[in-house]
Amino acid sequence: MRVKDKRALITGGARGIGATTAFVFAEEGARVGIVDLREEGLRDIAAQAKQKGFEFRTFVGDVSKKDQVERVMDEFVREFGGIDILVNNAGIAISRPFMEKTVEDWEQTLGVNLIGVFLCSQAAAKYMLKQNSGKIINISSIRGIEHCGREGIMDYSASKAAVINLTKTMAKELAPTINVNTVAPGHTLTEMTKSLPEEVKRNMIEGSYLKRIAEPIDIAKAILFLASDDADFITGQLLLVDGGFSLK
Ligand code: NAD
Repeated sequence: MRVKDKRALITGGARGIGATTAFVFAEEGARVGIVDLREEGLRDIAAQAKQKGFEFRTFVGDVSKKDQVERVMDEFVREFGGIDILVNNAGIAISRPFMEKTVEDWEQTLGVNLIGVFLCSQAAAKYMLKQNSGKIINISSIRGIEHCGREGIMDYSASKAAVINLTKTMAKELAPTINVNTVAPGHTLTEMTKSLPEEVKRNMIEGSYLKRIAEPIDIAKAILFLASDDADFITGQLLLVDGGFSLK
């Protein structure tokens, strides 16, 4: 029960790493809200939660739109009475070679992966500062660290590098009230990666010292740690969960 009675909002919670994090948090005693663009996905996860004896509050919203973010945050706080944990997990990747990349690809990717983190954090911090406590966990990627930018998704890689930097600045500005940290997953088996060619997946496994692709639960456990009291003295840090991929 490492997050017992904590009120946690997870963005992009309708599948993948976000949905798994929502279940791990619920199992550890949290009261959970998930926000996502996809209403049907939210309904599915809420139904799965019910079967396991949990109740997830769902919010349809786009993290890249200020008015929608503020509406979701206000509704969450009205219902839960505050917010203790925000997980900025929603993310997108648009794969296109550099010479074909468009401004629209860049704007969409930065809008969700970077501005979305800023908007959700600002909206949550308004309440966290008032209640004098809070934890924010931003989800970056190994693609955002040195050496790991990937062909075709340079906008994604840049957005994820920016999230690591933004985390550090937020940690300074929001201290000593709010802890802000980053989890950077390595390759993880979700809808985002399922459609990749087998050869790419083989390379991912070969590149990892632990010789496998992560399951969402591997990432969720790291997020749980940073959201729990065990991480009370940790802020502004980057936790890589990549099976050693980045060591090469
Ligand atoms: P996913 O595509 O399976 O799930 C992402 C969820 O975010 C989806 O439900 C989607 O609808 C939602 N979403 C997208 N745009 C949104 C928006 N504007 N507003 C609200 N919700 C939105 O992805 P995943 O693999 O679970 O990835 C989760 C996070 O982890 C992302 O930030 C991703 O960049 C990061 N990550 C994933 C991997 C990987 O290999 N899967 C590796 C490193 C980092």
